[in-house]
Amino acid sequence: MSANIESTDVVVVGGGPGGSTTATLLAKRGHRVVLLEKETFPRYQIGESLLPSTVHGIGRLLGVTEELEAASFMVKRGGSFRWGTNPVPWNFLFAVAPELSGPTSYAYQVERMKFDDILLRNAAKHGVDVRENVPVAEVIGDDERVRGVRLADGSEIHATFVVDASGNRSRIHQGVRGERIYSDFFKNIALFGYFEGGKRLPAPDSGNILCAAFDEGWMWYIPLSDTLTSVGAVISREHAAKLQGDQEQSLLGFVDRCEIVRGFLENATRVTEGTYGEIRTRKDYSYTNSTFHRPGMVLVGDAACFIDPVFSTGVHLATYAGLLAARSINTVLAGELAEDRVFEEFEGRYRREYRVFYEFLSAFYDMQSNEESYFWKARKVTNLAATDLEAFVSLVGGVHSGEQALVQDFRESSGALADAVERTGSMQTESGERMHHLFGTPVVREVMQEMNNIQVRGVQGIAAHELPLLENGLVPAADGLSWTEASR
Ligand code: FAD
Repeated sequence: MSANIESTDVVVVGGGPGGSTTATLLAKRGHRVVLLEKETFPRYQIGESLLPSTVHGIGRLLGVTEELEAASFMVKRGGSFRWGTNPVPWNFLFAVAPELSGPTSYAYQVERMKFDDILLRNAAKHGVDVRENVPVAEVIGDDERVRGVRLADGSEIHATFVVDASGNRSRIHQGVRGERIYSDFFKNIALFGYFEGGKRLPAPDSGNILCAAFDEGWMWYIPLSDTLTSVGAVISREHAAKLQGDQEQSLLGFVDRCEIVRGFLENATRVTEGTYGEIRTRKDYSYTNSTFHRPGMVLVGDAACFIDPVFSTGVHLATYAGLLAARSINTVLAGELAEDRVFEEFEGRYRREYRVFYEFLSAFYDMQSNEESYFWKARKVTNLAATDLEAFVSLVGGVHSGEQALVQDFRESSGALADAVERTGSMQTESGERMHHLFGTPVVREVMQEMNNIQVRGVQGIAAHELPLLENGLVPAADGLSWTEASR
């Protein structure tokens, strides 16, 4: 018999963005949540470029908006790409024009040590029992359901639900008895390090992520501060041989073959000490699990799936899944709906978001096309009745799901901004490229309108009526933290 057994409502394994989001949103409904993290925070993680839906939608739900603002992360107004057949980098922005920038028309480039720490401490502030330096060894349960976890020291925590948010490299996900299916298309390897003193794009795009294609793959160039830059090469597995031997030489070799990044790093020096001094590689990161849940257990974030580093979708998918999982568990624990019904909603919405990005990212890797065809493909996968560019921006803004909770702030800016977008539609940038505004996309407009409605109804004390996203699907409750049947 185990020496030590305790019980709680929910055990969350992993303190990354997926775990912290789920745990906080469960604690907000008063449940007892134990979060177990094997490391001591702050800890290093890759995945530094965020989307607006994470910063503003999830950030607001978690109550960390001000704290994120105070952390002085690099403001990311969009992305700059040297991609396709066009030799000139082109931009997309989360806003149509600087003078029209709304409260949600930017994201952050974050040092994940700081960002993840803010989210984890926030979970504790909301009453989550956060335990660091506690590795989970395995999930325990029977044929009927998962019933808890066993820790590395042999003790057990029994719970009504186990949330696996333990990321890419843990094996806890096997507790759902599914299979991790690796992508046939994304079979890439990433090699990355950090540089001091790299150049910046001209203002106001200096905080943009820069993605540049070169012969063997593409490079990211993410400004984390005025002087520190995260630089990575993503190459196809066929070129894996080039990573054998000295990793610094490999990375510098890729930089050398990627003209624009080489120019930006001309006078920079590679960081060689401390957390950022290490050159790291990651592989086997593109997969999806055959199932995301089984009774008593749910997978969130990289534990469930990840696509590819291009377009910064990882933290978005992890935090979005955290929101969906928390809603589902909150609903079951309140005795409002059956477990299989709410997790069908969870899995349906999560896979829908994953699939849209998967298809789009696949299309984006079609290096032979020019940029117009990427936009076209973006529309094809979202089925939006929008212009090609609008569909593209909607997708990369992380708001394709149409989730109101991810676009909370939009209600505040909807009136004046929607009018302004109506007038301007699109504009030329300083460099002559066309930009577009996230608020200009039809899907976001509808969402903004809905948010206004909900606010008004909320003030008047009437339940909100939101349309289901899935056939016969559920809708979020008024506070966004559980599911309810859609009313007629
Ligand atoms: P994680 O952030 O991995 O957190 C999991 C936590 O679980 C960790 O803290 C870990 O210590 C803990 N843990 C693991 N096992 C156990 C255990 N047994 N017991 C207890 N705790 C455990 N995403 C973006 O949004 N933008 C980007 O620019 C981006 N770039 C990327 C570049 C590369 C090369 C790769 C591979 C990924 C990139 N991503 C990016 C994806 C991003 O890193 C992940 O999607 C994101 O970190 C997932 O968050 P998570 O909470 O699911 O997992």
